[in-house]
Amino acid sequence: MAADPNAPITQLKGVGPSLQQTLAKLGVFRLIDLMLHLPFRYQDRSRVTPLAEVRAGGEYLVQGRVTSSQVLYGKRRSLKVCVEDHSGRVYLRFFHYSRFQQNKLQEQTHIRAFGEFRFFGRELTAAHPEYETFTDTPEPPAATLTPIYPTTQNLGQARMRKLTAQLCGLDWADSSGTPYGTLKFLHQPPAGTGMTEVEEAQQAIALDELTAFYLVMKGRALQRQQDLARALPRSTGQGRALLKHLGFRLTKAQARVVSEVLTDLENPVPMLRLVQGDVGSGKTVIAAFAAIRAAEQGCQTALMAPTELLAEQHFINFSNWLTPLGMRVTLLTGQLPAAEQRQRLAQVLSGEAQVVIGTHALFQEKVSFHQLALSIIDEQHRFGVHQRMALKDKGQHSNGRPLHPHQLVMTATPIPRTLTMALYADMDVSVIDELPKGRQPITTHTLAEEKRPKLVETINKVLRAGHQAYWVCTLIDESDELEATAATTLAGQLTQALPDYRVALLHGRMKSDEKLTIMHQFKNADIDLLVATTVIEVGVDVANATHMVVENSERLGLAQLHQLRGRVGRGAHASHCYLLYSPRVSEAGKTRIEAMRHSQDGFYLAEQDLKLRGPGDILGTRQAGEQSFRIADLGQHAHLMPQVIKRGDSLLQAASGSTDAQTLSNLLHTWAPADSGHLTV
Ligand code: ADP
Ligand code: MG
Repeated sequence: MAADPNAPITQLKGVGPSLQQTLAKLGVFRLIDLMLHLPFRYQDRSRVTPLAEVRAGGEYLVQGRVTSSQVLYGKRRSLKVCVEDHSGRVYLRFFHYSRFQQNKLQEQTHIRAFGEFRFFGRELTAAHPEYETFTDTPEPPAATLTPIYPTTQNLGQARMRKLTAQLCGLDWADSSGTPYGTLKFLHQPPAGTGMTEVEEAQQAIALDELTAFYLVMKGRALQRQQDLARALPRSTGQGRALLKHLGFRLTKAQARVVSEVLTDLENPVPMLRLVQGDVGSGKTVIAAFAAIRAAEQGCQTALMAPTELLAEQHFINFSNWLTPLGMRVTLLTGQLPAAEQRQRLAQVLSGEAQVVIGTHALFQEKVSFHQLALSIIDEQHRFGVHQRMALKDKGQHSNGRPLHPHQLVMTATPIPRTLTMALYADMDVSVIDELPKGRQPITTHTLAEEKRPKLVETINKVLRAGHQAYWVCTLIDESDELEATAATTLAGQLTQALPDYRVALLHGRMKSDEKLTIMHQFKNADIDLLVATTVIEVGVDVANATHMVVENSERLGLAQLHQLRGRVGRGAHASHCYLLYSPRVSEAGKTRIEAMRHSQDGFYLAEQDLKLRGPGDILGTRQAGEQSFRIADLGQHAHLMPQVIKRGDSLLQAASGSTDAQTLSNLLHTWAPADSGHLTV
């Protein structure tokens, strides 16, 4: 009987409640989930290697006669076993062993072992190999490559292999949309299979997975077309008034994006538009034009920023831009005194405040809007999708149907175009591909840490000339607390080294009003040098700050370095960025920071990051948290995207035809059971 891919995993022999729980941790609930739980590498135990062919650094299955076995007493007691065959000799070494094992590994027994060989002194040795002893004839070597699975506590490789072997033994009839043959091949590649063949098979599966993802995203877009939003047509033309007192002219790119956004807003369909623009390309003002349009129709806009610093800064900008037009802007943060908070909430509820700016505090249940028609999310890669959804629910109703707010999503994270098209297929995308005129280039220097004293001299001169600087302390992978401590220490050192200047400290562990005060002082040039952690990564805009030093720059990804560097070069003066690296920097780390020296183009750097260290860093939460692929690896498979889009689109187009409809529905059921509902055809 053909196996049912959606049957619960408990259908396999030996899977009881406890193993079921363990498997759930790996995302395995159905038979198909285990089918899709593919090995991340293989061992070749299909061939016995003559001992003379064993090389250091390789994994081998070997076999021979034990010719000596002795206990060594050194720093650590160990059991050393010599194995010989007709061609040569190797050693096995055990640091933990029982009396029973020691007896078994007597001279003259036969042994087969699998392990990685390295030189111990001059002797090729495997430490703690897997082995079996035998007297007569051994079992034949494995008929397939041995899969190594991602696994979790209480579930060893051997048990995992037994499960997948049982699974592959079921009757899987290949069906359109799920290539069981390929999946079985990947669980049990026959002996002699080369890695190219394996990679090709993985790629075929990745193509399916990415296509399913693309279809889900497209499905969401289609769903959105069915939803209702308030149409926001042009009426009083207040946008023009803003243009007049803005103090600068929009770049061509900004003007184009503003008109794309405003056109969307005229429709009674919820907009979901992603505005991508490099650091400093001027995204904030785009949001202001959209907010004006909502206000023209008597509606409210919510603008959400990832940090209080940035929310505050947006509040200042929006107030400058919109108050002269008679609009009211309010700021909601988590830190307000209760009375003040109540008053502001009342303004939001009554509709008196047309633009409401805040951090995720905006999602709190107590925030109710009078007429929310537009929500804007800045630096979206910092937020999860759930937070976005919460704002979506704050809309109104019309004739019993929910009115969804339009959504404008902004990001400085440059994502290569093909990736954007596939990964953000649920959104429309606008790109600001031009910086405002007159921006000074930033010269980037890479510098070994030991040059720090000289750098302090340089900064001294910069400050003497009346400019300001950032000194950024990074400790990726360590706690907030450690980062704060490191920054505090550094601030102390720099205060001593630069006695004539005002040095201040800013880190994520400080209270938010303290942070804001420091930021204000820095903006007003009451502080000369700001020692900070990466909290200043987004949004901080101080034109007089012309120099930036980044400690341990080798630990950061290019996207993040690029963001940080974007804090300088905002005024009319030439700017410099110094990337300090530790003496222990790896070759790859060095290559990465060198790339920073050569380019200021966020998109180019994103491509490099993708090549050098995979996508996690560039894509932020969307991939790291919200969406992780089971098999596809964007670092390896990004080049498949054009194919994914083509295939996905043609499946959608043909979705009314019966065969493709079946393929499409199978694909979705396999990969995304929860989402397949959107696309029933
Ligand atoms: P980002 O895209 O990084 O969010 P911002 O919106 O913060 O950029 O803009 C960076 C700075 O450039 C701000 O001080 C902003 O007022 C200014 N700016 C924006 N557009 C222009 C323009 N067309 N010409 C000159 N300056 C501009
Ligand atoms: Mg911004």
